[in-house]
Amino acid sequence: MSFSQPEIEQIVSRNLNRIHEQMASALERRPLDGPAPRLVAVTKYAEIEWVEALLQLGCRELGESRPQQLAQRKDLLSSRSDIRWHLIGHLQRNKVRHVLETEAFIHSVDSWKLLERVDNLAGQLQMRASVLLQINVAGEEQKDGMTPEDFLANCSQLAAMQHTTVAGLMTMAPHTDDDDVVRKTFRSLRELRDEARVRLHTPEVLNELSMGMSGDFEIAIEEGATLIRIGSGLFEGLASE
Ligand SMILES: *Cc1c(COP(=O)(O)O)cnc(C)c1O
Repeated sequence: MSFSQPEIEQIVSRNLNRIHEQMASALERRPLDGPAPRLVAVTKYAEIEWVEALLQLGCRELGESRPQQLAQRKDLLSSRSDIRWHLIGHLQRNKVRHVLETEAFIHSVDSWKLLERVDNLAGQLQMRASVLLQINVAGEEQKDGMTPEDFLANCSQLAAMQHTTVAGLMTMAPHTDDDDVVRKTFRSLRELRDEARVRLHTPEVLNELSMGMSGDFEIAIEEGATLIRIGSGLFEGLASE
């Protein structure tokens, strides 16, 4: 099926409104204080017309999974200098320079070694990198990320970063219908951050918690997400499934 641009905008607008309403109710249910969550629109499977619709509707935070597609789309939309690009997918060592050159906010730094490399290359490029550390909270074998133990044991390394702002943590919940498992994962990420703040004696670090996708963002917001990464939910009615 193919849609005209006004039809695409109408469909995405309806989805976006629904998601914003769900975000607002989840925020009301959240027991903690803290910043309202921001939506990162994940466009990895979106056609460029869909991305145009998002921009038309005011979305300015766009997430891509693959460095190459991120760079291509950034070029394609280079007249829109107000877009903030997020890399949410796995980052290979040999792609770090390429990604830094796009100035993307990187959610997926999944080892201390990779963080060190980001910091070194950011120094070479005379820029400041902004990243999150990806944590494999649930210990799933097929998922990337540091273990919670590795993160806590080495979190003093954060102070050694010269050219990198580690703004917070990112995780993905297991793919399950069991809300309790999902909630536990998100809560653990927040508690891990809180524990790191205690160990580092700095209450104002690691402010960002990137957690929650189309299927579980409401729980993530209830547990303190500051960034939610939404893909399929934005494009319901457009994708040919
Ligand atoms: C694809 C992806 C998302 C978005 O998932 P949806 O279920 O389509 O909302 C979020 N985070 C990461 C890391 C992803 O790869």
